[in-house]
This record gives sequence, C-alpha cells and structure tokens, in this order.
Amino acid sequence: MRRGRRQRWMIKIAEERMKILFHRAEEEISHHPERSHRYAQMARNIAQKYNLKNQPHWNIRQCKSCHKFLKPGLNSQIRLSNSSIHIKCLECGEIRRIPYIKEKKMRRRKNIESHTFKKRINE
Ligand SMILES: [Zn+2]
Repeated sequence: MRRGRRQRWMIKIAEERMKILFHRAEEEISHHPERSHRYAQMARNIAQKYNLKNQPHWNIRQCKSCHKFLKPGLNSQIRLSNSSIHIKCLECGEIRRIPYIKEKKMRRRKNIESHTFKKRINE
C-alpha cells in the first residue's frame, strides 16, 4: 500500500481544473479582470493543495508576488534578455526572470529519458 502519495487520478483532475480556471481567466481578463484574478487565485490554491507545479505555459501568466492573472500587453510587460524572459507585473510592479523555455524543455526531456531508462531496468 502506498501511503502519503497523492493518487495519480486526483492530480490529473487537479491539473485539469487548473487548466480550466486559467482558460476562464484568459476569457474574462479584458472585461472582468477581478474575475480573472479570482480564477488565478483558485488555480493557485489547487496547485498548493496538490503540490503541483504550474504548467510552464501558464506559469508566466500569474504574478508570483500578488498572484494576479497576467496578460501581456494588458497588465504585464514581457522583455527578452540574452538568457531569460523578464516579466513585469503592472499590478504590483514585481519583475520576474525566467530562464528560456528552450532550456527547460531540454531538461524535461532529459528527465523523461532517465525515467524511462530506469523503468526499463526495473522490468
Ligand atoms: Zn503582481
């Protein structure tokens, strides 16, 4: 029996709910920004509860300081530097630096590869 581990299907549902919340936030941001921010906050609560990492795609869409939903050109500014993306939240002024997504993807691929490799050994 596995104890202390989150069930896979629960995580799947949590991720799905987060995705829906962010999509709704995206739809509402121009007309009802306060709703978007609430959705973003709800998604964050789910992430914390299930200890989930925000999906890379949505990660840059939420301010890590005030947790509001960010839309580039509306309430956030995105600038590229040589090795990172700078995201400025115009709601609270926080600037975040994120390494290029390319690197992240490669790292993730490496992770997956080592994972499948381990699995094969176990079999
Ligand atoms: Zn902010």
